[in-house]
Amino acid sequence: MKQNKGQKETEEKKQVLVQAPLGMNDILPAEQKYWNFAIGQMEDLAKYFGYKKIVTPIIEYQDLFTRSIGRVTDIVEKEIFEIKQKRETKLALRPEFTAGIVRSYIENGMKNRAKPVRFYSFGPIFRYSKPQKGRFREFWQFNVEALGSCSAGQDVEVILLCWDIFEKLGLKNLTLQINSIGCPNCRPEYLSLLKEYYRPYRRRLCADCKRRFSKNPLRLLDCKEARCKEVADKAPQIIDYLCPDCHSHFKSVLEFLDELDISYVLNLRLVRGLDYYTKTVFEIWPEKEGGNLSLGGGGRYDLLVEELGGDPTCACGFAIGLERIISELKNQRIDVKEERKPKVMLVQLGEIAKRKSLPLFEKLRKQGIRVLAIFGKDSVRGQLSVANKNKVTLALILGEKEALEGSIIIRDMQSGSQETVSQNRIVEEIKKRLKED
Ligand SMILES: [Zn+2]
Ligand SMILES: [Zn+2]
Repeated sequence: MKQNKGQKETEEKKQVLVQAPLGMNDILPAEQKYWNFAIGQMEDLAKYFGYKKIVTPIIEYQDLFTRSIGRVTDIVEKEIFEIKQKRETKLALRPEFTAGIVRSYIENGMKNRAKPVRFYSFGPIFRYSKPQKGRFREFWQFNVEALGSCSAGQDVEVILLCWDIFEKLGLKNLTLQINSIGCPNCRPEYLSLLKEYYRPYRRRLCADCKRRFSKNPLRLLDCKEARCKEVADKAPQIIDYLCPDCHSHFKSVLEFLDELDISYVLNLRLVRGLDYYTKTVFEIWPEKEGGNLSLGGGGRYDLLVEELGGDPTCACGFAIGLERIISELKNQRIDVKEERKPKVMLVQLGEIAKRKSLPLFEKLRKQGIRVLAIFGKDSVRGQLSVANKNKVTLALILGEKEALEGSIIIRDMQSGSQETVSQNRIVEEIKKRLKED
């Protein structure tokens, strides 16, 4: 049967109402233990290293991202999530953290603080690209930035924090990929050599690389297309063209890493997808999958603060993708500690008992006893089945009779044995039984 137009539209509307937007996911309660574990470990370590939490808006002026990330980058060309407004300056959902944090650093006059000024943050970021395996439109990052130090020690501190996070999460078989992409003193010469090398192969390259050739030649090196990789393999290497400053900086970074016994791979094709990087860039890769799914990465961005209107300020940082970390935690079957579960359930039967059980629940909470109770569930059977499902040790059962005489039944859920005790002694009775347990 043919549906009329009105009917069809209503059905489409209904369908949209119960669908998350394309490339966006719910993080359901059952998943939370992974998220809490991952974020908890990352926060602990960042704090240990002396980094302070900062929260910036999810939305910024779009120009901030265009200026910082670079006009001819995949992120700005294809992946910015614009927000339509009537007349005001264009806004966008943040596609990464660094730009907003640097904006906040400048706006809040943080240059006057003792340097380096070090931050960590986490939250959702947005990229308007076609969703595919391991890539979403909304995803979460844990992000770290250190502003105000030009020293190679700062690069290594940031890399070490990143590396330690993976170690603390228990993830194995990872490699640290590292490179230097030079500075405005040495990069232009290298780029012109690179273009000379690529010129005869131009026709062979993929469409993206054809554009990169004239607008962002450095990105030619990390194209994932097989035909472009082949050309990139024999390209001149930036390491041979670094200026003395970049060269000695990179040399110290590597020496510090040797001292730490972190095994790294010198990856001369690693360039990162954002324009603001200078000198050191790095990524963490799972050993077998290769470059397509980096678990995290970052580098130095010594020119960005000035580019956005602040004083010249050296800086570096990294970001870790949380969805990828969590999928890796599951792949590697890492035992994620669950939150401490209550061992006691308070069960009430009837109106009077329910009224009396509320203050009792509060009393136990204040005594530090974790109690499970569902005041919206009336049937005793229903409540006991929740107790069973949650594997509690004890059920406290309050019926009308007990409520009136100020007593309560304590039931051992394993043996099924019951005992009636005075409510005045409830805390000691619970503690005694849990100790035996
Ligand atoms: Zn240089
Ligand atoms: Zn290509």
